[in-house]
Amino acid sequence: MSRHVCSVDDSRMNPLTSNNRALAERDLRHLWHPCTQMHDHLSIPMVPIVRGEGAWLIDADGRRYLDGISSWWTNLFGHANPRIGAALKAQLDTLEHVIFAGFTHEPAIELAEQLVRITPPGLDRVFLADNGSAAIEVALKMSFHYWLNQGHGEKTRFIALSGSYHGETLGALSVSDVALYRKTYAPLLLTPILAPSPDAYERETGESPEQFASRRLGELRSLLERHAHETSAVIVEPLVQCAGGMYHPSYLTGLRALCDEFNVHFIADEIAVGFGRTGTLFACEQAGVSPDFMCLSKGLTGGFLPLSAVLTTTQVYEAFYAEYNAGKAFLHSHSYTGNPLACRAALATLQIFRDEPVLERNRALAAHLARRLAPLRDHPNVAEVRQTGMIAAVELVQNQDTRQPFPADERRGLRVYLHGLEHGALLRPLGNVVYFMPPYVVTEAEIDHLVDVAIAGIQHAVRG
Ligand SMILES: *Cc1c(COP(=O)(O)O)cnc(C)c1O
Repeated sequence: MSRHVCSVDDSRMNPLTSNNRALAERDLRHLWHPCTQMHDHLSIPMVPIVRGEGAWLIDADGRRYLDGISSWWTNLFGHANPRIGAALKAQLDTLEHVIFAGFTHEPAIELAEQLVRITPPGLDRVFLADNGSAAIEVALKMSFHYWLNQGHGEKTRFIALSGSYHGETLGALSVSDVALYRKTYAPLLLTPILAPSPDAYERETGESPEQFASRRLGELRSLLERHAHETSAVIVEPLVQCAGGMYHPSYLTGLRALCDEFNVHFIADEIAVGFGRTGTLFACEQAGVSPDFMCLSKGLTGGFLPLSAVLTTTQVYEAFYAEYNAGKAFLHSHSYTGNPLACRAALATLQIFRDEPVLERNRALAAHLARRLAPLRDHPNVAEVRQTGMIAAVELVQNQDTRQPFPADERRGLRVYLHGLEHGALLRPLGNVVYFMPPYVVTEAEIDHLVDVAIAGIQHAVRG
């Protein structure tokens, strides 16, 4: 891998002719980027990418970066994947888009059929939207509206887990508990009922992740005893919370039982964990549960185009199905709902899952990643190395024994990011959590490169 990384450095030797620099300057004149304090770009380079190739991104000066986070968790089978690309090119000459109310098309029909087939049993209805947050909005509104149509308009609240992330539109942000994203907009948001997360990082010494999950289920039960009458749904990220917390599948089994007992919906946000990330095609499979709503996006199109889907049950569908004047129809629409190009990309992605032993290959890659990360467990600034399938995370702390975190304003994670850019890897820590979520086409040698860069970056970041 070092071959790719080292042979390309004319840009830094000859900055005046840098294409990167020229594009970055134009960018900063007009664009406003997400999740970014734009002022940072006085010192942090803006990286213009001109090409993608498998797990690699290539910038305008020819420097290569291994995409260790699948470009915000979207990419599965590599950048510019030729199979997905070919499917899209064929669709482009046929139908680019059509209104999705009153009209339909085969890519959406086929996609719905396939999603119903591959998701847990009972999820027989598919509502399409165009990004992850929109899918969350759909699930929240549909859950509330279901109860309303059943004569239970008082069920207006949602239970979310502490540390949850469900997106950043107002509804999705309402059920998210990441202080950085939430605090500023709190006056605009619904107030969720927060249940303590089963994130195994928070368990007592000597307590197993399963025992801890069981204890957290007890706490959820008391919340439901008090709030079920006003609660529409419990929403969770199955098994992995935004690459931060990870928890035992038994929590999901218990959650399913509690939702049944207390008559509230179970919304599974598989936007990040779906499509093989956790080792099974969907994370819920590891608990053997079917949620009432499952939200999918990100990997759905292999990382090519924005698309999302909310799957739900016949029972939910039928609560909306009535003569027009009964006024029970679901009210939600986006202009690009069911875009045929996006559906085509999704179909090509699912075809790859059928044609190739993806989950099996991922198991081998995940085991390799685990072996390579293992030495970090002894690092004095690492509190935990955790992994679920093709998601691994390293929790940096000031002190391994006390788990005293680094102050957020020291931006240790940012140092890892900058080190990565210098050494041919895209790592983008969340706060002080350095995580790995590479595309499934990554090789063991590429994982070695990623981990080597990360370890050196961590070494550099925890100093002084
Ligand atoms: C990314 C993400 C979302 C939001 O999806 P967007 O397409 O970014 O709006 C919601 N939930 C989870 C778990 C996610 O990872």
